[in-house]
Amino acid sequence: MVEKLARARAAVAAVEDPEIPVLTIEDLGILRDVRLDGDTVEVTITPTYSGCPAMIAIGLEIETALARAGFPKSQVRSVLSPAWTTDWMSEAGRRKLLAYGIAPPNPNALPSCPQCGSENTEQISAFGSTACKALYRCLACREPFDAFKCH
Ligand SMILES: [Zn+2]
Repeated sequence: MVEKLARARAAVAAVEDPEIPVLTIEDLGILRDVRLDGDTVEVTITPTYSGCPAMIAIGLEIETALARAGFPKSQVRSVLSPAWTTDWMSEAGRRKLLAYGIAPPNPNALPSCPQCGSENTEQISAFGSTACKALYRCLACREPFDAFKCH
């Protein structure tokens, strides 16, 4: 039973974020809980923010991953409270994000440039390539970059 749960959890934890495929939902910190109720796997996620269209895709990805791991019956539940914050993102997740060229969330300051590391950056637009990111520009190397929005 414990082994079965560990298998289900591993399958869910490996699901990638559809917007940032280098990050798993575990890296992002949106995976809250995985439990077994008989044959049904119950997964609890907290969306990065309510209304993020990626969450529908993530729900489907979780169900698909579980089915592939031998769990055809699953239920994905979204819990909005307590609200997800960027603090839930793992250290590994932040490193992967930076390596991917997206500035990790920095609640106390402007994001640093993922290209040159400069903190001399400015926001160009509140909307980056997806709604969960904002577009910034580095004033040192002049490169535009995406930054994960803070909540
Ligand atoms: Zn730069």
